[in-house]
Amino acid sequence: MYNILAVDDAKDTLMLLEFDLVDEGYQVVTANGGEAALKIVNEQNIDLILLDMYMPGLSGLATLEQLKSIASSQNIPVIMLSASNDEDEIVAALELGADDYVTKPYIAKVLLARIRTALRLMEKTVELERLAKTDFLTNINNRGSFEDLATKAISQCVRNKYNLVIAMFDIDFFKQVNDVHGHEAGDKVLIAFSAILAESFRDYDIVGRIGGEEFAVCMPDISQADAQNACERLRERVECFQLTFNQEVIAVTVSIGMSKLDEKSYELHDLLRNADDALYQAKSSGRNKVISFNNDNDSKSDVHEPTTLGIDISSVIDDSNHELSQSLDSSAEPSEQYPGIDYSIGVANVLGDDNLFSQILDMFYEDHHQDAEKINQAIETLDHETIKHMVHTLKGVACSVGAMQLFEFTKILDHAINNQESDKYVQLFQPVQVELIKVMSGIEQGAKAR
Ligand code: GH3
Ligand code: MG
Ligand code: MG
Repeated sequence: MYNILAVDDAKDTLMLLEFDLVDEGYQVVTANGGEAALKIVNEQNIDLILLDMYMPGLSGLATLEQLKSIASSQNIPVIMLSASNDEDEIVAALELGADDYVTKPYIAKVLLARIRTALRLMEKTVELERLAKTDFLTNINNRGSFEDLATKAISQCVRNKYNLVIAMFDIDFFKQVNDVHGHEAGDKVLIAFSAILAESFRDYDIVGRIGGEEFAVCMPDISQADAQNACERLRERVECFQLTFNQEVIAVTVSIGMSKLDEKSYELHDLLRNADDALYQAKSSGRNKVISFNNDNDSKSDVHEPTTLGIDISSVIDDSNHELSQSLDSSAEPSEQYPGIDYSIGVANVLGDDNLFSQILDMFYEDHHQDAEKINQAIETLDHETIKHMVHTLKGVACSVGAMQLFEFTKILDHAINNQESDKYVQLFQPVQVELIKVMSGIEQGAKAR
């Protein structure tokens, strides 16, 4: 319902207006002068203002001038009510930004028609403004809007001496998605990617599509470590995500470059250039990773290998006497409740439904808690089909439930299986087994606690 503010010093006019407008289904607020009107506009959500031209105190024109000078009331349509037909006054009001005028005594039908027109125009304008700022495909900020919002956020952070981080995202080998699955499938991937992006960052982070398959996020007032974690988490979520289109499963990865505000780089342009530099390095050093621009040394950047690769797998392969459990202990422990499971990733895969996620964990336990034994046996008997099937399935579900370390280890084993490097199975299975036992006993404990 629209909320209309009627401003007039004459009580009878206000009563009449209120009667006619309420009768038409509008909600009405009244003010007996300019000062009162400005106060109301400041406190309430007003959709349209009917403003008397001649009032003692702040005149109609003076009130109008003030309304149009304040950002919050600038866009509220104003219809002037004037007792005279003084052309100069009317022109002055229109030039000050009034949308229309109606002479008093007014004819209700005419006034109501003009109100409808003004409201319709206002809605169209709001929608046009929204469209001008929105990327038509993905519904997130377009480049222009991202730049406007990010520029504002940067100057605010510079003023308040807050940290700020910009990250740039480029989907890996996206051209192949189009080539293999078609352009329509490519569009679907871009839409899904944008949704994940918008969901993964805080409400006040600014997310935008800045090119074909290039996106950016501006994170005001955030530590470098938190921004890094947010980007790493997004990278993992994208890696886990699968889109089914025309019965084909499409998966993509994303490369990410980050840069932060400092004395040398305090303009959007600098931050984007630095993030793009880091992104380029992420691309050229293998893709599917997050790299930070190093502000201290322009030529070098910080590589964040995925936390899930925190364990040096080569030592596992090369040294059979490795201290596997020790290296595992030093790895990141993303969830206290469920060891080895990044709860936020798992629960995000079921749209934040905690209940459903705990059911899924139970199912995962049901179906896979004996996998370690079974895969071991299959490796011993060189049952290639079973190894291949079980490891591949385990890789997929580990990813879905957010068991990211397990996912990484299984992925490496799966890769060896696909290359038929059967001499590596035993060694590569060891970390999978240790991690699997850890994850499963965690779920078991969790189920008991519930
Ligand atoms: P890299 O890992 O190096 O980023 O490889 P890439 O294939 O992702 O990069 P490249 O820049 O070669 O290709 C980007 C592709 O994105 C080419 C273009 O057709 C596609 N693309 C850009 N905009 C759209 C869009 O709106 N929809 C679809 N479906 N594809 C788009
Ligand atoms: Mg590109
Ligand atoms: Mg790309």
